[in-house]
Amino acid sequence: MKILVPVKRVIDYNVKPRIKADGTGVDLANVKMSMNPFDEIAVEEAIRLKEKGVASEVVAVSVGPAKAQETLRTALAMGADRAILVQTDDAVEPLAVAKILKSIADEEQPGLVILGKQAIDDDCNQTGQMLAALMGRPQGTFASEVACEDEHLLVTREVDGGFESVRLALPAVVTTDLRLNEPRYASLPNIMKAKSKPLATKSPTDYGVDTAPRLKTVKVSEPAVRQAGIKVPDVDALVAKLKELGVA
Ligand code: AMP
Repeated sequence: MKILVPVKRVIDYNVKPRIKADGTGVDLANVKMSMNPFDEIAVEEAIRLKEKGVASEVVAVSVGPAKAQETLRTALAMGADRAILVQTDDAVEPLAVAKILKSIADEEQPGLVILGKQAIDDDCNQTGQMLAALMGRPQGTFASEVACEDEHLLVTREVDGGFESVRLALPAVVTTDLRLNEPRYASLPNIMKAKSKPLATKSPTDYGVDTAPRLKTVKVSEPAVRQAGIKVPDVDALVAKLKELGVA
């Protein structure tokens, strides 16, 4: 079974995003970029399935600028076998990404596509669900555990108030939650080896996908600054204060 793992290059999770002065978006100039953390978990899970003998090949895909090659090399250094960069400098919305992934899935015929549950730059949480719909295949989103059984995948999902188990007929689409695994660090020899693994470069037009945005960003602004708290001496004062504020 082949596994397709879409990985997105995003602003590093340790960086505090700065809003551009004209309010049109987040300033990415000279900002550290990395693989979306949920996608690292997806790559790790795919590699573990390969190590268990469930999968035979892991293919990483990224839709983004030329620099997304670095993100794909990271996936290759972790253990993916080859990579596809669908190069574009446009900001690509989840629907366009899902359409490109659908075309790649038609070509590659993966038994499983594992994506992150959301990209931490747009927080959309849409691409995996849209891809499953376009492919007409089952989906197990927010996976905290994945096991393979015959031609099925057992996925434990994190849902409000607990866990839900679903049994998916393969091929299927899975999106990863934080607790699925702890991604490995790439070793130096593997980083060196990754440099010679195959990386194909394509464009959205190769897949017949129009990446023109369907959404218009009206304005991007900083969240309101949190008000300072106050200290009260005892419970009576707390209750009085809550009554005064109208919350008790
Ligand atoms: P989103 O729907 O934007 O929150 O993204 C969910 C997941 O879809 C991400 O964790 C990635 O696995 C995948 N994805 C989204 N955008 C891209 C992209 N440009 N290239 C590759 N994968 C992507």
